[in-house]
This record gives sequence, C-alpha cells and structure tokens, in this order.
Amino acid sequence: MTKSPLLAQGRSYLAIPGPSVMPDAVLNAMHRAAPNIYSGALIDMMPALMADLRRVARTKHHVAMYIGNGHAAWEAALSNVVAPGDKVLVPSTGRFGIGWGEIATDLGAQVEVIDFGRAAAMDMARVADVLAADKAHEIKAILGVHVDTSSSVRNDIAGLRAVLDEVGHPALLMADCIASLGCDRFEMDAWGVDVMVTACQKGLMVPPGVGFVFFNDKAEAVRAKMPRVSRYWDWMPRAHPEEFYQYHCGTAPTQHIFGLRAALDMIHDEGIEQVWARHAVLARAVWAACEAWSQRGTFALNIADREARSHAVTALRLQTPNATALRDWVQQNLGLTLGIGLGMAAPGDPAWHGFFRLGHMGHVNGHMIMGLLGGIEAGMTALKIEHGASALDAAAQVIAGH
Ligand SMILES: *Cc1c(COP(=O)(O)O)cnc(C)c1O
Repeated sequence: MTKSPLLAQGRSYLAIPGPSVMPDAVLNAMHRAAPNIYSGALIDMMPALMADLRRVARTKHHVAMYIGNGHAAWEAALSNVVAPGDKVLVPSTGRFGIGWGEIATDLGAQVEVIDFGRAAAMDMARVADVLAADKAHEIKAILGVHVDTSSSVRNDIAGLRAVLDEVGHPALLMADCIASLGCDRFEMDAWGVDVMVTACQKGLMVPPGVGFVFFNDKAEAVRAKMPRVSRYWDWMPRAHPEEFYQYHCGTAPTQHIFGLRAALDMIHDEGIEQVWARHAVLARAVWAACEAWSQRGTFALNIADREARSHAVTALRLQTPNATALRDWVQQNLGLTLGIGLGMAAPGDPAWHGFFRLGHMGHVNGHMIMGLLGGIEAGMTALKIEHGASALDAAAQVIAGH
C-alpha cells in the first residue's frame, strides 16, 4: 500500500463551484429505504416543497421540476418558449452564456450573441441598442446568466428588465440562476424575470440530479402559442399536476426530494436574507485574501470590479508555475479540491493551466473559508509561488469585522 500524504487525512473539502458541499442534514435525509411513491410522505410533502422553492426564488408563479442537471433545465426552459426559427439574444459574459445559447441553436433558434468578453459584466447600453434596433420585435427572449460560473461575473438581471421596459420590447426575460440561487440576492418577481432556470447542486446543497424551471403567466402564454413542445420538457403537467404533484411525467427523484426538503429547511431556518449576507461576507473575505496575494507575482482575480463579482464563486489566474500545480498540491497534501478554470483557454492549450476557481456557495461558513484560504497560502509557500503577503490577515479582518 502506498502511504498517503501526512496531512491529507480528515474530512476532505470540495471547494469547487458545483457540486457544492452537502450538509449532513441533506445526506441523512436521503439515506433511507426506497419510499412509497403512490401515497404517504413523498406525495404529501410536495405542495409545501414547491411553495418553499418559490420562496427561495422570490416568486409567486410556477415551478416545474425535472430529473436532470442545469443543462437539462436550460433545454427545458427553451423548449417551452422557443420554436425553430425564433430569435433569441444572448448577452454573454462567459462560458455559460455561450453554452445556453448553443442549446438554443441546437433547438433551431436564431441566436444573436453580444459578447462582453470574460472579465466584465453586461453593458446595458449595448443591450439597449440591440433591442432598440429590433423594431419588428423579432427577438423572442433574452437569455441572461445571473452569475457566469466560468468568469465569476455577476450580471444585473434587474437592469436587463429595465432596459427591456425602457425600449418597450416584449421579449421574455430568461435568467440562469444555477450558480446564484441561494447565494447571491435574486428576486424573480420584483426584478421582472419571466423564466428562471436553476439546479439543485449549487446553492441548494443537494447532489446533482434535479433541475427547475420557474415561469410566470406571461411565459405560460408564450408557451400556449408554441406549435409543439416535447413531452418530457413540457412544463405544463409538472407545474399544474393532476396526479402525483410534479411527477406524473415519470418516476420521481425520490431521495433527492427528501434531500431538497432538508436543504430548504436549512435555508428557511437561516432566512434567505441571512443566507445572502453570509455569502457576501465570505466572498469579501476571499477577495481580500486574493487581492493581497495579487500584489506580487502572477496571481490575479479575473473580475477587477468588486460590484461585478459573484458571492458564490471566484475565478482566478495564476501563471507561474501554474494553477494546476497549486490545485494538485492542495488536493494531494491537504484533501482540498479547488475548481479548474473553465472557458478561459481551451483544454490542451498550455494556458489552460493558468486558471482556477474557488467555489464558496451553499454550505460554507467562516472556518471553512479561512481553511480554504490557509490551504492555498500553504500550497503557494510549498511550491515557492511568488505572492503578496498578509492575505490571511486581510481575510481575518473581514471575518472579524463583519
Ligand atoms: C453549473 C452551471 C450550469 C450547468 O449546470 P450543470 O448542472 O453542470 O448542467 C449552467 N449555468 C451556470 C451559471 C452554472 O453555474
């Protein structure tokens, strides 16, 4: 047997931007015998589960659940409102904006991308220009990613609504909150979002496997005019069920539903405002450390503007030696897994190794974030990576002073 590294034992820590850390309460809730799917607890809990999901999304409107990940939710949402030949607008700020647009293309939509690069938020003036130029109102939907997990930019979704209203454009506002729900403030109804997609394995703290599409009455009216919607993706029977709540479209994701129940209880016990505030303070601690490290060497935050940074994920650059060496070191020696870079360079391109990401979404607290940052500091010290000093002091100041 090979001997494991001295300091790698103990509970490991997956600090990547999804899947996120699973709370013991979620794991324990899932650990049960196969439940009765015809009657009993599983059936009885669904109405309250749906209501509590709406509370997290800050909406009074509808929600459909699918067995599937975020990609499934992307496709589900588009399948209900975008027909072949329809035009959609993608203001892109990273890999996930592009990815959602690619799914629309594959479904036969005409996709127009406004590319804002990978290090800045959407510029609303440019979005307004494109919408204003669309006098015939051919653009049927805008696909806005709230937090693009590849670049860690956070976009102003309420700002997109304001632009649509100013221009007087009727397009549906569709938001991807897969990384942001339960981390960064999001208010579906107050922000005028028509369709929102999310998945359970990030801020919702449940293993991957369930995707959600929230939609309002305006989106439902667009759905009613679709020439056809594929049976599995159709949100109507899921949001307006006649039989088993949400799942007369196939077997329910039984254990996930119990896990989700536990996660929603945790979120509501803490209070969503408190959940957002916790993520905000922990993100500021991460930024404080990263800004200190970036004073020397090649360490850098991808998003310079604090206002445009997500509270759930931080994308970073480290060229010398490189981020992969650091990730490998903390993984092997400390049991700490950091996220790979995504969408910044093609895999196979040596530049790919110069990027990495920290997930700080969901079930995270002060000691975990200090441990994460301390692990990175130790890794950079061990690998003799040049970096600025006092990063942990800076993070501790944020934690202490919140
Ligand atoms: C994770 C993520 C996705 C993709 O979700 P999968 O479950 O991996 O399919 C899409 N968009 C955003 C913003 C994400 O963070």
